[in-house]
Amino acid sequence: MINWGRWQDVLADFLFPAAVCPLCGTPGKYTRSLPWCGACEAARQREAAEEPSRDNPLSGSGIEKPAFQQAIHTAPYLGVTQAAIRQLKYHNGKFLAPRLAELMLEKIRENGEFAACEAVVPVPLTPEKEAQRGYNQSLLLAREIARGLGIPCLPDALCRVEDTLSQTRLNRTERLANVAEAFAPGRADVRGKTLLLTDDVLTTGATAEACSRALLKAGARAVYVVTAAAAGFHRPDSEV
Ligand SMILES: [Zn+2]
Repeated sequence: MINWGRWQDVLADFLFPAAVCPLCGTPGKYTRSLPWCGACEAARQREAAEEPSRDNPLSGSGIEKPAFQQAIHTAPYLGVTQAAIRQLKYHNGKFLAPRLAELMLEKIRENGEFAACEAVVPVPLTPEKEAQRGYNQSLLLAREIARGLGIPCLPDALCRVEDTLSQTRLNRTERLANVAEAFAPGRADVRGKTLLLTDDVLTTGATAEACSRALLKAGARAVYVVTAAAAGFHRPDSEV
C-alpha cells in the first residue's frame, strides 16, 4: 500500500526545507528526518546520556506499584529535548515529531520487553485543547512509532472524560488525584492486547498511570509506556 502521508512529508521537505535550526537559529537546511543542527544534536546526546535522578517514574506519587509494566524515555526533560518538545506542542512544530519518534523507536528497540507490544495508544487531549492546538502531539508521535514498529495505532483506545485543571500549577499529589479520573476506555477493542502508551513527557507519571488503568479496565493484557522525555531530573545550569 502506498503511504501518501509519508510521500507528502518527503515532498514538503523537498519544497520547503527549514532555513534555520528551530532550536537555536543556526542557518542551514533542515528536514523532518534531521530537523535540528549538529550542535543541538551533540548537546542532546550529552543530555540524554545523563543518569536519571530517580528510577521509579511514580516515586513521590504515593503509588507503590504502577499499573504499567515499564516506562522508558529518550532523555531528561531539559535542554535540547525540552526545547524540541516545546516547539512540537506550543509552536506548531509538527515537523519535529518524526525525529523525536525515531529517538523513541531506538529506545523501544533496545528494550526486549517492548517487543511484546501489539498496538500503539496515544494519550488523548481534551477535545477543546486539541481543537485549540489543531493536533495532538502524542498522536503524531504514536503514528510514527506505530509505522516504525509495523503495528497499528489506536487513537480511539482512550477518551478524556473531563477537562482537568492545568497540571503545571499542581503539586505531585494533586496532579495524581486530578488525573486519576480523567481517562476512560474508548471505542477501540484492546481486549487481550499488549499496548504501548505514548506521550511527549512523563512528569509525575500520573497520566501514564491513569491511562494504563483505563486500558487494563478495557481488557488490555499489559501496558508499556514510552515518552520523548521524563521530568523530575534536575540540573540547575540547564534550566531555561
Ligand atoms: Zn541548533
